[in-house]
Amino acid sequence: MIPAAFDYHRPGTLDEALKLLTSHGDQAKVLSGGMSLLPMLKLRLASFAHLVDIGRVPGLDFIKEEGGSLRIGAMTRQSTLERSDLIRSKYPILADAVPLIADPLVRNRGTVGGNVANGDPGNDQPAIMIALGATFVAKGPKGERSVPANQFYKGLYETALARNEILTEVRIPVPPARSGGAYAKLKRKTGDFAVAAAAVQLTLDAKGAVERAGIALTNAGLTPLNAADAAKYLVGKMPDEKTIVEAAKMAAAKSSPSADRRGSVEYKKEMARVLTTRALRKAVQRAGGK
Ligand code: FAD
Repeated sequence: MIPAAFDYHRPGTLDEALKLLTSHGDQAKVLSGGMSLLPMLKLRLASFAHLVDIGRVPGLDFIKEEGGSLRIGAMTRQSTLERSDLIRSKYPILADAVPLIADPLVRNRGTVGGNVANGDPGNDQPAIMIALGATFVAKGPKGERSVPANQFYKGLYETALARNEILTEVRIPVPPARSGGAYAKLKRKTGDFAVAAAAVQLTLDAKGAVERAGIALTNAGLTPLNAADAAKYLVGKMPDEKTIVEAAKMAAAKSSPSADRRGSVEYKKEMARVLTTRALRKAVQRAGGK
């Protein structure tokens, strides 16, 4: 289908983009890679009179470690993340996940900012950012603010961002020694979203017990699911098989997926449990545990 008519704006600076968003209010929407927004417009599930394309705004495309954080600019394409040596060597949770997002064509266009700002519980990066303890940085007319990823998702396609704010970067604490992460995803075929998926990031102490844990699930409800109880349960314990199995059960019990062509509620909850178990095992192994 053809989308409803809109005015296309291509600002050259962030300030210009923010001014456009502010002056057009509810009628304006940020466009980054367009891989989620354009299908919505074409299917007429949404319409906006003004699209503000931030693709030419400088300074939003970077991946770097600085001041104890991994900083990823909002306009960084998924394919750039996929090819990054830094991500491959130090952030295996992202290295696991990115090649499983959609297909190479979508990853060439789709951005990290668009993936996390979209508010779709089927997107993979929101759960990963929650597990990693990430913070999202946004700029608006009143300046810059930071929102922890675990407080960002408010409902289906609803986030903490105001209409006239632009997500500029994601900041992830650089994992200390003895850390490991993993993402386990089940999808029916290339180009489909997850039936279920689990993101796990752990740090072990010198004795091998869990010092910090983050667990979050994709497509497990209306928002990415922060399995905080399961993560808390792990802290202070040796991550043996019994503990892993129990934590995975706790995480899956919190999930509330809906039935669709990808499976029944029971099936998806069971897959959430199985995938959390697998991601926990791999994360422990990567952190140097047994
Ligand atoms: P856009 O489509 O441009 O924008 C998406 C939304 O975010 C819009 O509401 C827009 O206003 C807002 N937005 C974008 N950038 C910003 C910003 N910087 N600040 C504020 N708001 C912003 N994703 C997965 O994670 N896993 C999958 O398995 C997967 N499968 C897919 C399969 C197909 C066939 C397709 C077409 C897409 C799939 N996607 C999947 C989605 C894909 O990853 C998108 O690229 C991503 O969701 C949106 O990124 P984008 O840059 O294209 O954003």
